[in-house]
Amino acid sequence: MEQKPVVLNVGYTDTPFIPGSQWRVHDAARPQPPLVTPGGAAGAPPSDAIVLFDGQDLVGWVSVKTGEPAAWKVENGYMEVVKGTGNIKTTAQVGDCQLHVEFASPVEVVGSSQGRGNSGVFLMGLYEVQVLDCYDNPTYSDGTVGAIYGQHPPLANASRKPGEWQVYDIVFIAPRWGADGKLASPARLTVFLNGVLVQHDRVSQGPTGHKTVSNYDTPHGSEGPLMLQDHTNPVRFRNIWVRPIVEEAE
Ligand code: MG
Repeated sequence: MEQKPVVLNVGYTDTPFIPGSQWRVHDAARPQPPLVTPGGAAGAPPSDAIVLFDGQDLVGWVSVKTGEPAAWKVENGYMEVVKGTGNIKTTAQVGDCQLHVEFASPVEVVGSSQGRGNSGVFLMGLYEVQVLDCYDNPTYSDGTVGAIYGQHPPLANASRKPGEWQVYDIVFIAPRWGADGKLASPARLTVFLNGVLVQHDRVSQGPTGHKTVSNYDTPHGSEGPLMLQDHTNPVRFRNIWVRPIVEEAE
């Protein structure tokens, strides 16, 4: 049953104002937080999530290269990279958000370093949180699973074994530019991998790249697609949902 927000006669009207805020301490008029019903099981989408992939089909996902419907394989509740079909992205546009993604590295272990179970979760199609099979697979540190690729190694390597489902929970804050075209605030990411904190409010130095130094020379919008990478390895994804972050006015 849907819960209805309840306006309670609680709080105060005679307390001091919180510095920098229109609200008093314990303000009676301060709006109640919206009610969100958590998912029924750990990782299941809460009531206000936008489900980007529910395991049924790739409706809402297109090829980055061609704009045609995404050609990755869907079976048994997951999607799998089909080598050579290229990166795919959502038609949905997302900016500041909480993102949940589950992935599994190929059971059959092939290759080494960046050649093993490589894919990536690109916020706004630009900011890559690396996906790699890093179970007993050394690679360069800033390319480890949980890395902000090419910039920040994860705080820990919290990999599960190949074939096991792994979980990303990501908080992404998009960068902002001023009217003068100058960067006002950079992108920031907090990332949990399998429940382990691997990035804490980390500042991205710009859209991530391979063998390049990132920068914010090119302003972009406040929203973009979620992109998943075809790095030729048959990595699987499932249960992808997002909750846009809407900040309360102070
Ligand atoms: Mg990658």
